[in-house]
Amino acid sequence: MTGAQDGTDAGGLETASPERVRELSDNLDAARARLAQACTAAGRAVDDVDLLVVTKFFPAADVRALIGLGVRAFGESREPEAGRKAAELRAGTEEPLAFHMIGQIQRKKAKTVGRWADRVHSLDSDRLADALDAAVAVALDDGDRHDPLEVLLQLNLDSDPDRGGVVVDDLEALADHVDALDHLRLRGLMVIAPQSETPALWMERAASIRTGFLARRPDAVEFSAGMSGDLDEAVRHGSTCVRVGTAIMGARPIRSP
Ligand SMILES: *Cc1c(COP(=O)(O)O)cnc(C)c1O
Repeated sequence: MTGAQDGTDAGGLETASPERVRELSDNLDAARARLAQACTAAGRAVDDVDLLVVTKFFPAADVRALIGLGVRAFGESREPEAGRKAAELRAGTEEPLAFHMIGQIQRKKAKTVGRWADRVHSLDSDRLADALDAAVAVALDDGDRHDPLEVLLQLNLDSDPDRGGVVVDDLEALADHVDALDHLRLRGLMVIAPQSETPALWMERAASIRTGFLARRPDAVEFSAGMSGDLDEAVRHGSTCVRVGTAIMGARPIRSP
């Protein structure tokens, strides 16, 4: 059973069962090995690509088990689940943890995301950028955070509005808009390969858009691309961060968008 809990620790926090910890450990090892192999196959250094473990839908006990296994960066995609887990987990450890928002953000949720997120992968509009900038300003004032918010611009490759993302024609204007904001730091691009066609086709397209983008913004080097199903292809096309959920956590209890 995924997410099985085995009681509580000394601090009264729920802990994952030994079987679950072993499962997570094995899956994590396999994902790391697969990523290393993809890097080698692509002629890249193994530490070129970060592994972001996507923990959405899974309990804090699982995340605590992952912290025990050495993971420090987590991807979340839903509020208020994400904010609650980030606060609880940070309170329970001295380790510096990074929480990345990778899912679509409703503007009214920007206020809380601005409090807990170290990085947003899914920035796709001027309005959302403004809302996040304002939220981060408040969080900095309140002492809830100490650093600006790192952002990636999510590319929309097939113009399907449901998936979110900015279409290529609007990419530069959005980047300019973000540059003018005080509390956001533009770090790069993010892409989710659409289901139609092959991942290779979409990753190639994204990589070519990124080449143009990098020519004008050489510092925005991050490229969040690749998930459980297509990380090898993404690494071949320059990914600097793969977002892996299912391959490490198991199947999510509910189908996520
Ligand atoms: C859920 C999610 C992932 C993880 O997908 P898996 O196929 O489970 O690895 C990656 N990126 C985004 C944006 C997600 O929402």
